Amino acid sequence: MKLFVLRLGHRISRDHRISTHCGLVARALGADGIVYSGDHDQSVLESVSRVSEQWGGKFEAKYEKSWKKAVNAYKKKGYTVVHLTMYGMPVQKTIAKVKRKNKLLVVVGGEKVPWEMYDLADFNVSVTSQPHSEIAALALFLDRVFGGKELDRKFVKAKKVVVPQARGKKIIGK
Ligand code: SAM
Repeated sequence: MKLFVLRLGHRISRDHRISTHCGLVARALGADGIVYSGDHDQSVLESVSRVSEQWGGKFEAKYEKSWKKAVNAYKKKGYTVVHLTMYGMPVQKTIAKVKRKNKLLVVVGGEKVPWEMYDLADFNVSVTSQPHSEIAALALFLDRVFGGKELDRKFVKAKKVVVPQARGKKIIGK
């Protein structure tokens, strides 16, 4: 499956950490890339790209000013658009249908989500109907989509690899 994430409405300085974490979670849990819309913030793109460079894999982080243009471009390329929102249909009820698709664009919101997003989405999906976080919603959704297999994913051409330890830290490479 090909899967990209679109992060809506990034605000420079206020959202640096949360937007970076959306990228890191997307990469670690099996997405092929993330598109940021809203303010152009080179430091977020660099933070995510730096992690990919050191820890491997083929993850892309890019910017598109217009979220609508990004959604329509992915739709044109045959991607199914899944918008994560507390107002959507429960993930446990929609995941089987979503998993049948082979190209997904997973949209996570920011402070304010434009109404059009709800109409443009093929699926509006909730991870509980409670307000929480784009990072948590994304992590849980990706785990459901990949059925836990993302946890064993190998990252090609990694310069640094963790050797899991019961205690302490061990890293190969630098
Ligand atoms: N108040 C905003 C709005 O206009 O909908 C949402 C703010 S929320 C902090 C930011 C993003 O987190 C949402 O757009 C959504 O992608 C995600 N999110 C938060 N709670 C969620 C939930 N229960 N299920 C799915 N996604 C959720």
